[in-house]
Amino acid sequence: MSDTLGFVGLGRMGALMSKRLLDAGHRVVGCDVTPEAVAAFEANGGTAAADAAAVARQADVVFLSLPSPPIVGEVAAAIAGAGGTVRSVVDVSTTGPSVAKRAAAALGEQGIHWFDCPVSGGLKGAREGTLACMVSGPKADYERIDELLACFGKRFYVGDGAGLAQVAKLANNMLAAAAMVVSSEAMVMGVKAGIDPHVLLDIFNASTGRNSATEDKFPRSVLPGTFDFGFHTGLSYKDVRLCIDEAEAMGVPMIAGAVVRQILAATNAKYGPTSDFTSIVKITEDWAGVEVRG
Ligand code: NAD
Repeated sequence: MSDTLGFVGLGRMGALMSKRLLDAGHRVVGCDVTPEAVAAFEANGGTAAADAAAVARQADVVFLSLPSPPIVGEVAAAIAGAGGTVRSVVDVSTTGPSVAKRAAAALGEQGIHWFDCPVSGGLKGAREGTLACMVSGPKADYERIDELLACFGKRFYVGDGAGLAQVAKLANNMLAAAAMVVSSEAMVMGVKAGIDPHVLLDIFNASTGRNSATEDKFPRSVLPGTFDFGFHTGLSYKDVRLCIDEAEAMGVPMIAGAVVRQILAATNAKYGPTSDFTSIVKITEDWAGVEVRG
């Protein structure tokens, strides 16, 4: 077995996660279509390869951290056609169960195991190795993957079926986005009435309204006005769209989720896909004519 790991997609999450593998002493071969991302990876001690197929020819386990389902599909197809030493592909992106099932089938024909392993915990969790890693894939081959995932954080094995962990992750991200949307409305209302936003957050966080937005996103990125939580609006919009589309395909209506989707559509249209997703609050702020700042 090769002792070399592969990493395709060295963006904000991929840079930090590949660094944790490098810091643990693994040799990591990586690629990205953005030259700056490759340069940063090399500065961390990584070895650059031309593309995903070149990565797959050198590594036994290849991680993917990519922005969308079509790109995951293309990269999985390139790896399936590459030959070489790769035995397992672990997708740490959030790209939904449909592409996970297709990629698992294409790679399975070449005897390559597919694990979907979407993660939660943001850039901070990726940097510190405290991510929640939701994993689905063949149990019989999971031991080696679990050892490697220990570099990233806590593992939750969901089951054998390709895409199961992606369902768990989409459901989580829908909840996180919904918390941001509804907390924004509650905060804007309180501030417009004249309540100090710090006092209002303290009340929520000691009461039944507390959630991931009131405990973390508002104090860290909204009240200081930094909007630097580290998760792009475009990615959150993609996750919520995927969640609703997959739920609909399963016969599960998501009516409240559809409202969250439209608020993200508005945030994406007004502030752009690379804005921080805490910019959601600015939509309600604009409508109400107040700002929630410390
Ligand atoms: P990012 O846009 O910073 O990184 C994606 C990288 O993939 C980019 O560097 C891009 O150049 C590269 N890429 C695109 N096409 C490629 C290809 N064909 N071959 C090689 N590289 C390619 O995004 P990110 O924030 O790092 O997120 C990556 C994934 O992780 C997404 O699916 C996202 O939903 C998920 N995620 C992000 C966070 C977060 O807080 N940022 C948290 C959990 C999960």
